[in-house]
Amino acid sequence: MGRRKRRKKIIRRRPTLPNVFQCPHCGAQTLIIDIVTNKREGTRKAIIRCGTCHLYYEIDVTDNPLADKAWVYGKFIDAYYEGRVPLPESEEAEE
Ligand SMILES: [Zn+2]
Repeated sequence: MGRRKRRKKIIRRRPTLPNVFQCPHCGAQTLIIDIVTNKREGTRKAIIRCGTCHLYYEIDVTDNPLADKAWVYGKFIDAYYEGRVPLPESEEAEE
């Protein structure tokens, strides 16, 4: 007899998306992501900043209407580890 294996469905209530994420730079849970829509220009961008180390980064999400904070965070982490995020530590201007 073939009994279908049933996978237990784990129903997780989705908690509201966290508003703060962990900063890859300083490790604090103070990374804030804002998605800003500019209706006049028809653009949309995500602003990522850390309240502890003042890391700051922007990602243009104009072409990605589905981008949400979790998506942005993933992109940001990628960018960070690829060295594309300017680090806040060096206050001296590098030329
Ligand atoms: Zn930080």
